[in-house]
Amino acid sequence: MRSVREAREQILSHFQPIPDWLLLPIEQADGYVLARDLHTDAFYPPFNNSSVDGYALRAEDCRQTPVTLQVVEDIPAGVAPQKSILPGQAARIMTGAMLPEGADAIVMVENTNHGIRATGEAAPHQVQVLQAVKPGENIRPRGMDLAPGSRVLQAGHRLRPQEIGLLAMLGLPQVEVTRPPHVAVLSSGDELLPPDQPLQPGKIHDSNSYSLAGLARRAGCKVTQLGVAPDNLADITALLNSAVRLGVDVILSSAGVSVGAFDYVKAAIEQNGQLEFWKVNMRPGKPLAFGAYQNIPFFGLPGNPVSAFIGFMVFVQPALERLSGLQTEELPRVSAILEEAVESDGRESYLRAILQTRDGIPHARLTGHQGSGNLFSLVQANALLIIPSGVKSLAPGARVEAWPIG
Ligand code: AMP
Ligand code: MG
Repeated sequence: MRSVREAREQILSHFQPIPDWLLLPIEQADGYVLARDLHTDAFYPPFNNSSVDGYALRAEDCRQTPVTLQVVEDIPAGVAPQKSILPGQAARIMTGAMLPEGADAIVMVENTNHGIRATGEAAPHQVQVLQAVKPGENIRPRGMDLAPGSRVLQAGHRLRPQEIGLLAMLGLPQVEVTRPPHVAVLSSGDELLPPDQPLQPGKIHDSNSYSLAGLARRAGCKVTQLGVAPDNLADITALLNSAVRLGVDVILSSAGVSVGAFDYVKAAIEQNGQLEFWKVNMRPGKPLAFGAYQNIPFFGLPGNPVSAFIGFMVFVQPALERLSGLQTEELPRVSAILEEAVESDGRESYLRAILQTRDGIPHARLTGHQGSGNLFSLVQANALLIIPSGVKSLAPGARVEAWPIG
């Protein structure tokens, strides 16, 4: 049986970034992956400006303070100054306003005899500077943050609100992003009902469609939920075919890939595609199939809700990231101190846990019983503890690797 690492590497070898890209208005681009490196040909700030409310002046005029200067202009933000500052002169200037010619420093209003500001108050004719300033003080020079030729953003970066703001700052109302992968999600099982139907004896609600669709959306994908196929080959094949007609990039199904008498998903893939493997040496989530259905990459996740979720995080997420063109960074892992004894059967295990920092040290405890159907314990968890293969028990106080899941 494949180890988690072997299975993941084999899966990833089948995925390449989608070459298509879209031009999106920046207000719609949050969460998309940048398609190209972005260089700037602009200076930022675009002009020398003041970082404070104060008086623009010549630093040499106020080596000895107090000194009285003549105020020759009032420069609010958004206005180009009209005058040059000559020896003995100053201009009142607001934060973000353009530095006038001749001035080489700004004294904060608090360090003048006009320290109390009233909105709407006109500039005085004279100002007394109470404290010396150095040349350049309180000035944000043109190009201080960005100069022409700087690489501003890197292709493969997932855009966040701060990048969207930066694009706007540079006057770029649109941005090229990679086309998000389109993922079809389906469930299989005679016992499954949609959440809007009342339960009947022997039935349960389909939860996997919803948690898997949510995970795929959070991974930046377009998702189509195809619903539930009953446990027979014809219906499963029909649902898989509808995914093919949609032209999806990935098919995600859950259940029907273990060794039960009604596990037809595996059979459907074998008939119309290739199954690369259907077992991984992990817990939870051993029955996990990967292959292709009519040349579309196919993941057959386990049926148990926690197994399906963890199978997504461990195998599907990295594949979707590669498809999206995302330059993935190493996932954050935390070394934590175990607060209770943990048993494992020697398979690489992913246990639901609460990670909590006490006295600056991360501690971890389990969220109740670890049955792979216990979705509630995943809801209570904020981390998965990764118990390496071969480890059968850990005592309280042992160091354990935790994967924060938010
Ligand atoms: P199976 O892989 O079909 O043997 O299913 C394993 C377990 O997962 C069974 O208890 C199923 O009832 C349960 N299960 C399968 N699919 C879902 C689903 N979509 N939502 C919730 N539970 C499911
Ligand atoms: Mg089943």
